[in-house]
Amino acid sequence: MSTTIDPLFTSDVAQLTALREQRFGATLDRVFAAHPYYRRKFVELGLSRGDVHGLAGLRKLPITTKADYVAEPDAFVLSAADAADHAETVVWDVMYTTGSSGKPTPFVSTAYDFVNILALNRNMMRLRGVTTSDTILNLFPLTRYPHGAFARAMNAAAAMNIPVVAALPGHVNERQPEIGSRLDEVVAIAERSRATILWGVPTFIRKMAARAEQLGAKLPAVRLVFVTGEGFGDAARKDLEDRLQRLGATAPFISVSYGATEMQGGMVECAPGAGNHNPAPDQFLFEAVDPETYAPVQDGEEGLILLTHLDRRGTVMLRYALGDVARLTRERCHHCGALTERLMGMPRRTDGLLKIKGMLVNPQALVDAVAAEAEVLEFQAIVAKEDAGDPLSMDRLVLKIVPAARAGADLAERLQRSVQKAIGVTPAVEQIAADDPLISARGWKAKPILDLRK
Ligand SMILES: [Zn+2]
Repeated sequence: MSTTIDPLFTSDVAQLTALREQRFGATLDRVFAAHPYYRRKFVELGLSRGDVHGLAGLRKLPITTKADYVAEPDAFVLSAADAADHAETVVWDVMYTTGSSGKPTPFVSTAYDFVNILALNRNMMRLRGVTTSDTILNLFPLTRYPHGAFARAMNAAAAMNIPVVAALPGHVNERQPEIGSRLDEVVAIAERSRATILWGVPTFIRKMAARAEQLGAKLPAVRLVFVTGEGFGDAARKDLEDRLQRLGATAPFISVSYGATEMQGGMVECAPGAGNHNPAPDQFLFEAVDPETYAPVQDGEEGLILLTHLDRRGTVMLRYALGDVARLTRERCHHCGALTERLMGMPRRTDGLLKIKGMLVNPQALVDAVAAEAEVLEFQAIVAKEDAGDPLSMDRLVLKIVPAARAGADLAERLQRSVQKAIGVTPAVEQIAADDPLISARGWKAKPILDLRK
């Protein structure tokens, strides 16, 4: 079935519903035939293909958790055996997300999926008001493993046929010192690119704007700022708008996204506070359920957000819990007219992972990295704001350690390297005494990472 409708802005509800039904049915056919994880699960549950009739039957399917996926990510990739077209199964790229073991978990996209990824990223840009006159400045850092944020910002530009400049902020690569830019270099790149769109981690964009102001740099062309949502409230929005106006931007619109590796994109705002829109209703379906009982909740009430892939060929998930609770609405958006699911208010995490400096961090991975170091007797990690009086300042991870008596002089440096390798964030390392109350006064349920940001 060829689609001539624009799934995001169509006024023909019946046609969109028919398309979603058709895609879901085809997905179920493929999953029952060739999805290693669900085939096994459905046998355990006694479910056969005939038991699930269209989207109304979705509730018969079990919930998939992040733990299920992380335990055996390869079992979530459709097997290739009976695909009619090679493009459906040839791997285009693999992105990684943090798993419960701290080991990065692969998310596979085939050549078929990549075209859909371009389309959904194009829709994100349309929702955010991007035009063909825009230029993107990609401010995502290069990560240790392939990650959607950096790569899809490049792809989004391609999907919209507009220029993109990647600033590559962060640590300069040791093997290739020409690769990677320090903060002042990023400011210079931002100026010379004349970018109209800044796209990156909000705390970094704020830091860059602050440095630009110090240096007397101007960014008058900036009219859009795309940020990911964690910890980004109204105060942060106002602060960033003010900073950009001081750099010469006239009326910047800051569009917040709720992104996930499992989408290879994000649910984005079309206007401040308009909710995070599903950018591709022909590719994704969202539900909200009670986090304990998994019973559906009414639209507008807070529930655990579930994602179902309607048209993927690589990694495929059904009723996958993204790990956040939010309020879901299916009403047409007053601002942009899109008829798609939206999450109102910022989703909250429920799965124990923390976001530090924009990175999704598993506390257990940090514990494992530090535990591997024999010269550390005890430790407590703390994540706080660089400036305790300023909730908008950068995150700071501090690792407080009780070192062994004979600990080497390079212990702190070794820990910084191993923690960075494990969780992607470099801690400041501070020594404390064994009788420090931070260690001696804590209970048996103490958390390895204390979050002092709220
Ligand atoms: Zn809208």
